[in-house]
Amino acid sequence: MTTVLDILDKGTAYLEKRGIEEARRNMQMLVAHQLGCSRVELYVRFDHPIDDSDLEPLRIALKKRGEGIPIQHLLGTVYFRNHEFKTDARGLIPRPETEELAEWLAKHVTLSEGGRILDMGCGSGVLGLSLAADFPKAEVTLADVSPDALALARENAEFTELSVSFLQSDLFSEIPEDQSFDLIVANLPYVPDAEELAPEVRHDPALALFGGADGMDLIRRFIPEAAKRLAPGGWLALEIGHDQSVETEKLLHAASLTDVLTLKDLSGIPRFPIAKRGSV
Ligand code: GLN
Repeated sequence: MTTVLDILDKGTAYLEKRGIEEARRNMQMLVAHQLGCSRVELYVRFDHPIDDSDLEPLRIALKKRGEGIPIQHLLGTVYFRNHEFKTDARGLIPRPETEELAEWLAKHVTLSEGGRILDMGCGSGVLGLSLAADFPKAEVTLADVSPDALALARENAEFTELSVSFLQSDLFSEIPEDQSFDLIVANLPYVPDAEELAPEVRHDPALALFGGADGMDLIRRFIPEAAKRLAPGGWLALEIGHDQSVETEKLLHAASLTDVLTLKDLSGIPRFPIAKRGSV
């Protein structure tokens, strides 16, 4: 008879041998997912036997995790801010840093009734959909160049029951210059093309990660275009790579935006440039 504790111990040892970080936590997540319970609930089930019908899918998931498939893809969902979202290879796996940006915006931005929000490069949709939940009276648009990402974002809108609109667009190619937004957010691809990636990150779509030789190609195109579409008093907020804040701030100033600052993430890295368009 194989018990829950046996499988946790064996699976953890298997993942450790394959160099997977946080092996025990990963194994707990896989077992809890298979048994349909929480990680905490596993503790009171340590001596319960595991059915063969649960063992086989667990073996398959464990093997995949050992090969570096991200835990999020195996579980199929992630928590981001206040909701659970679907995640798979169609979009970047939501990162905890990005949650910090969503939280800061919810706290510091006020929009008047009917304010307009744009999430450019929405990927799975977590940022724009979280903002839709935080600003229920705003009209929110999620845009991405990737039809796959947009399909995933649409599923997430249904999954979270949040109401937003979608647009396939290569940055602002489909958004007229006279259309204005009160808040534009963008977590664009910003990784330099030649950067070595951790095995898990290699499962994110390359389109969502890479931004040219220094990672700044998309950000350089985006900022002047976004500035043109900000309503007076509107906000622009980005997520960028660890060494991109100096150049990004220059671009924001060059686009005549004001109140430019870059917020640090929890690791102290300047991560989220914020700017505003003057109100007159
Ligand atoms: N933060 C991600 C990483 O370092 C990159 C996300 C992005 O390019 N927007 O893997």
